[in-house]
Amino acid sequence: MKYNIAVIPGDGIGPEITAEAVKVLEAVGEKFGHEFRFAYADMGGCAVDKHGVPLPEETVAVCKASDGVLLGAVGGPKWDKLPGHLRPETGLLGIRSALGLFANLRPAKLFGELAAACPLKPEIAGGGFDIMIVRELTGGIYFGERGRETDANGMESAFDTERYSAYEIERVGRAAFRLAQAKRLCSVDKANVLETSRLWREVMHRLKEEYPDVEYSDMLVDNAAMQLVRDPKQFDVIVTSNMFGDILSDEAAMLTGSIGMLPSASLGSGTFGLYEPIHGSAPDIAGQNRANPAAMILSAAMLLRISLGLSGEAAAVEHAVSEAFAKGFRTADIMSEGCVLLGTSEMGNAIAASINT
Ligand code: NAD
Repeated sequence: MKYNIAVIPGDGIGPEITAEAVKVLEAVGEKFGHEFRFAYADMGGCAVDKHGVPLPEETVAVCKASDGVLLGAVGGPKWDKLPGHLRPETGLLGIRSALGLFANLRPAKLFGELAAACPLKPEIAGGGFDIMIVRELTGGIYFGERGRETDANGMESAFDTERYSAYEIERVGRAAFRLAQAKRLCSVDKANVLETSRLWREVMHRLKEEYPDVEYSDMLVDNAAMQLVRDPKQFDVIVTSNMFGDILSDEAAMLTGSIGMLPSASLGSGTFGLYEPIHGSAPDIAGQNRANPAAMILSAAMLLRISLGLSGEAAAVEHAVSEAFAKGFRTADIMSEGCVLLGTSEMGNAIAASINT
């Protein structure tokens, strides 16, 4: 089969890690007899430099013409002082909205081989865990009305507004319920205080009647933050709003040992999606062949499974990543005693080689 994949390397370590994901996909193509055609496009700081905008129209067109999008990371100190509409992150919000992506899936999986990199005690994290966090991506307080005011006494104040429609809650809720079939789904909110959370909970409760196979529960966000470190194995799938998901998924990321391990998928109502690591462009290590490419490679595995329907191929990539760890290969961020330190491209080679064996 032939598949079109849009690749947006972006800034910082983005080009280094996307090169490794492409390497691994090529190995998958060779092994399983698929042809992956890669169409490259610019976004973020490099697009500002080349095209004068963080998200050129051509990039949106390349993505729309593809079966799925791989994105490295955008941003860096060089572009930090630009006005809002030229900031690299504006490209990120723009592409999500141009492609109609509203559900962000962030699996937080602790590989057994990396247990030593997990900050939790072995009796809590032993044997690993596998949590899928589904974060609403295009609504809530990050997109609500905001502003600043100064009163008659010259006192400055600022406000941000959280607004969710039942429609926005329902569509992300359905995505989460579908993922949680025959598993546990925990909906996280702050319904004891926030009106948006009360509507969130009402909608989730209506939905749960339609999904009897899902073992559903509600949890307040402060408790969820605590439960994630107390007993992460109690969770299979978590669904939550944009801001709560932003915070909880970084907490879950740390539990897996390194931010360099975690992939993500942003989906709309169908199978098309944009796949990216949850970390940023890591300017502090860019260009040094030190970045961990695992999150990017695992993002490519999610693309294979969700957008291309190639579950066996996705599992082969995930297995190849585990195998590289089992052989003791580590990048600097997850290095531990007795292991073999590899650079970004050598780790990519090791994972690609595992696919071919
Ligand atoms: P970051 O995730 O880039 O880096 C945080 C720390 O984690 C750094 O010490 C970095 O070296 C390390 N790190 C990140 N990815 C790694 C990897 N694959 N392997 C090894 N170590 C890794 O976050 P930041 O420093 O807050 O942000 C840097 C830039 O990235 C900023 O411009 C920010 O706006 C941008 N950013 C972009 C995205 C995105 O493109 N989706 C997300 C977050 C931040």
